[in-house]
Amino acid sequence: MPNDCLFCNISKGQTPTEFLFENDTLVVFKDINPHAPVHLLIVPKKHIRGINDLTDDDHSILSEMIMVARDMAAEVGVSQSGYKLLFNVEKGGGQVIFHLHLHLIGGWKK
Ligand SMILES: [Zn+2]
Repeated sequence: MPNDCLFCNISKGQTPTEFLFENDTLVVFKDINPHAPVHLLIVPKKHIRGINDLTDDDHSILSEMIMVARDMAAEVGVSQSGYKLLFNVEKGGGQVIFHLHLHLIGGWKK
């Protein structure tokens, strides 16, 4: 597990970050460069480089990420107004940090 990975450091609490949610599998925090009024990142504690690197062992992590995203959407009040869940994959797909993360984006004005 590379110790120069920003999201490994954040999820282990080595880079001070306010978590909106944390359990044994993942953490949720605000994107430091938000693209919308609500822009959260759902980040597994396990280092997985990206969607292309998922293995059969990661089924439960991935489903938990989506379920937590749903719960966080409710908590921040965008469940009904609508939101996007987005994985960027590799540089060409806009991935900047090469540690799997799910973007929860919403909160636009009507
Ligand atoms: Zn990592």
